[in-house]
Amino acid sequence: MAVTHSHLSPATILGYPRIGRRRELKRAVEALWAGRTTTDELENTAAELRLATARHLVDLGLDAGSAAVPGSFSFYDQVLDAVALLGAVPERFRDLAGDGALSLEGYFTLARGEGGRPPLEMTKWFDTNYHYLVPEIGPATPIGFADDRVVREFSELAHPADGGQAVVTRPALVGPVTFLLLSKPADGAPDGFHPLDRLDDVVTAYAGLLQALAAAGAPWVQLDEPALVTDLLDVPFDEVADAVRRAYSRLATDLSPASAGDGAAERPAILVTAPYGDLRSAAGDGLALLAGTDVEAIGVDLVKGAVPDGPVPGLERKTLVAGVIDGHNIWRADLDARLATLQGLAALGAGAVAVGTSTSLLHVPHDVADEPRLDPGLKSWLAFADQKVTEVVTLATGLAEGRAAVAAALAESSAAVRSRAQAPGVVVPEVRDRTAALTPADAERAPYAERAAAQQARLDLPPLPTTTIGSFPQTAEIRRTRASWVRGELSDAEYTAAMRAEIASTVALQEELGLDVLVHGEPERNDMVQYFAEQLDGFATTVHGWVQSYGSRCVRPPILWGDVSRPAPLTVDWTAYAASLTNKPVKGMLTGPVTILAWSFVRDDLPLGDTADQVALALRDEVTDLEEAGIGVVQVDEPALRELLPLRRSAHAGYLDWSVRSFRLSTAGAGTATQVHTHLCYSEFGQVIGAIDGLDADVTSVEAARSRMEIVPELADAGYARGIGPGVYDIHSPRVPSVDEVTELLTLAAKSIDPRLLWVNPDCGLKTRAYAETKESLRNLVAATQSVRATL
Ligand code: GLN
Ligand code: ZN
Repeated sequence: MAVTHSHLSPATILGYPRIGRRRELKRAVEALWAGRTTTDELENTAAELRLATARHLVDLGLDAGSAAVPGSFSFYDQVLDAVALLGAVPERFRDLAGDGALSLEGYFTLARGEGGRPPLEMTKWFDTNYHYLVPEIGPATPIGFADDRVVREFSELAHPADGGQAVVTRPALVGPVTFLLLSKPADGAPDGFHPLDRLDDVVTAYAGLLQALAAAGAPWVQLDEPALVTDLLDVPFDEVADAVRRAYSRLATDLSPASAGDGAAERPAILVTAPYGDLRSAAGDGLALLAGTDVEAIGVDLVKGAVPDGPVPGLERKTLVAGVIDGHNIWRADLDARLATLQGLAALGAGAVAVGTSTSLLHVPHDVADEPRLDPGLKSWLAFADQKVTEVVTLATGLAEGRAAVAAALAESSAAVRSRAQAPGVVVPEVRDRTAALTPADAERAPYAERAAAQQARLDLPPLPTTTIGSFPQTAEIRRTRASWVRGELSDAEYTAAMRAEIASTVALQEELGLDVLVHGEPERNDMVQYFAEQLDGFATTVHGWVQSYGSRCVRPPILWGDVSRPAPLTVDWTAYAASLTNKPVKGMLTGPVTILAWSFVRDDLPLGDTADQVALALRDEVTDLEEAGIGVVQVDEPALRELLPLRRSAHAGYLDWSVRSFRLSTAGAGTATQVHTHLCYSEFGQVIGAIDGLDADVTSVEAARSRMEIVPELADAGYARGIGPGVYDIHSPRVPSVDEVTELLTLAAKSIDPRLLWVNPDCGLKTRAYAETKESLRNLVAATQSVRATL
């Protein structure tokens, strides 16, 4: 098939959700894992989903013939896809890649591990809640064009077997430079080796793929290079720039493009995208850098980033894909304003301008129309993936044919923007007055020494106090009970009774185990953020608003649309009930303001710091109510504190300033004798270590078992000198830690910090664990504590 389409469609998106409107892919993949289906069945389901998705996007207005529809499918993760494409399989999995290519089962094994072989590490994808698998690249890792799945997926849609509508897609892949910048050195790589050292091999493999795509008739390919928008990677911009120049001179200059007109094309036209931030100000000018290469199109994020207002040399030969529609949040765009932005781009002197999304739509749910329970007003302000496609198409028409051609759509969009600005609940004067009246004193508590003395007098805890992080196992029975209650089969009273029974048995278990500070166990919480969002004013929750978090795991982030306040206490009844059952202190359990924001879709009409203060004040009132109910210990979880850290170093101080302030606001209303705990879910503090001390909690629990307590000396070196609970039990696996093991970890921790500050607890909540291993593990934890106490 000859390549005929050299012009990129004027309307496109960078990627589309892969899980399916009803999470069809999740279910199909999990059925394979459970052994209920075969890989052939999964391949068939996936192929049907890809075909239906591509045709759906054409129905929504994307062009079927000009590479407007991205080929952005993945069975698990796009970075793992690149590992499979390259056959870059770590040594421990090498047997799974017989002739270089992984089978589908082998692919999942890299993601999930097997027997004694740990999976690839998983980490956050830029500033999103999506998580990718970290490739492991060493000097000897095989790298080649090992797998032509991308080509097959292109052909299957370009020549559909059912003879129906064909769709010429634009295969979308992680770009070679970003792939290597996100990789970590494989075990045993020599000192000084960086995965980027393998750039030439990766580029050779991508060149092979590009040639195969051209041969299959693909007019365009998309290579995502978001590494260009961040300066948090360990490679200086000069080296990144050099890698980009080398990679794209090999791919774009050395291979002849479709439009060359002198015989067969060796490659499709290339679109390089730089989502999630500003391409220009990282540490150098990424836009000028890309404009200087021979790629045909550049995708810029015009939601998080901007472009210069004058000409950019080189751009006159390229298409600028203007990412004016937000791929990372769910608000309907102000089309009028976006059209003005698009028209203003003329000054850049690009050869052509296409309308696009700022990022892949992977981060938003499928369809607002699919939300029967959302308030119609709120619904009219939202755009999920399908609505965003329509917005892109509308803007492209407006750009090409003038405003008049899309006047009705512009008017509708403006009306929605106006209705949102004026709607009750969006701006609540009492909430605004309260945050406006805040002073620095509202974030201050008495000096720690004074607090510590008052708390010890009240709580009378032994040295090395033992506690847990909050949740106890969420058993199948608890989930069933909640599901029946949600369906209306169980009355409120019956549900409350069932949860109280669960709390009573959790409290009894903790007393029997001999723990010192008890929890109620969180059986009533579906999710640590949604539970609060459902009760606070200013939030809405969805029915089908799932987005992929990693692999087959999906989350349903609440929508924070208005000013936040607390109409009634959130947790007091459950906590007070638990406290009524025991003489031991019971710790109240709240989710912190930063984590609530990080795991929700946040509003775009108020600075995040202001929204955080509103949430903080709602929590502050909850702390006061817990105190009034006699609760002497309150934990405010901030597992996501590090997650919202901006992709630019220059923005860190501002972020840490408001995030730390909002945490302190939420807790500083507590009396001197109330012990404030916080919990953080990671062990590498890096950029936030100073902020941990700034939170001013009386006790901080952190993940530490796997890293063998290394965080304890790090925190001590950073000047942290309040209570610290480094996790001694890795709750991420069913494995039971032995008494010796816990004893050893505690002894280790006690070496680098005053043992009087040391607490004993698991790494995180126990909700994903079963009771059998939980009981045994906690028993060992208490026994180890007793033996270490005896040595103090
Ligand atoms: N209190 C929560 C729990 O125990 C904390 C969860 C978390 O840190 N992710 O489940
Ligand atoms: Zn945690």
